[in-house]
Amino acid sequence: MYGIVEFALGAIMGYLITRVPFLIFPRFKSWNQQFSPHPEPVYVDSHLIQRVLHMRLFYWLALVFALIPLIFGWLSISHGSAPIGFGMWVVSGWLVLSRLTSFISGEESTWNKQMAMRLQSVRNECDGDNPCCDLALPLWEVTQVRCRTCGKNLLNEPRPDLGRPRSDGFFAGSIRLLISDGKPIVSSEEE
Ligand SMILES: [Zn+2]
Repeated sequence: MYGIVEFALGAIMGYLITRVPFLIFPRFKSWNQQFSPHPEPVYVDSHLIQRVLHMRLFYWLALVFALIPLIFGWLSISHGSAPIGFGMWVVSGWLVLSRLTSFISGEESTWNKQMAMRLQSVRNECDGDNPCCDLALPLWEVTQVRCRTCGKNLLNEPRPDLGRPRSDGFFAGSIRLLISDGKPIVSSEEE
């Protein structure tokens, strides 16, 4: 019985350590001053496109962070509590395997280059010769990018977590993020 508790403890630790880059790193206040506060729509500009690429980096950084529970798990198995070590290994090993297999099969992460490029092309359209209106202000709402001035739908793209400090507080927000893994809460509705 005690072994099960230890195993669960190791699993939870392994899980949380690998989520540190995504849960903690982007959420410092100084890193978010150029963005409107969560959960308001975000203005589509170069800062936002940069942020999408940073979120993608943090997603992949989880693989590096998985080394921590793998190493400590191994130490724990050989010198300390075997169940804790196995718990750490199972969770972090699973993360490494699932990320690598999805990478090999060409599956994209929640934040990816294509998403950044689609946002960039919205930006270009608004700055270019053929904007939706005279004062084109693309805003990323929950399910789409829409012009604030004329209301035109510019891109059907549900908004994932962008690393802004959460309006529901750090703990409740983190739990929600752990459940959703940062994916958009609603799916896009086709027009
Ligand atoms: Zn417009």
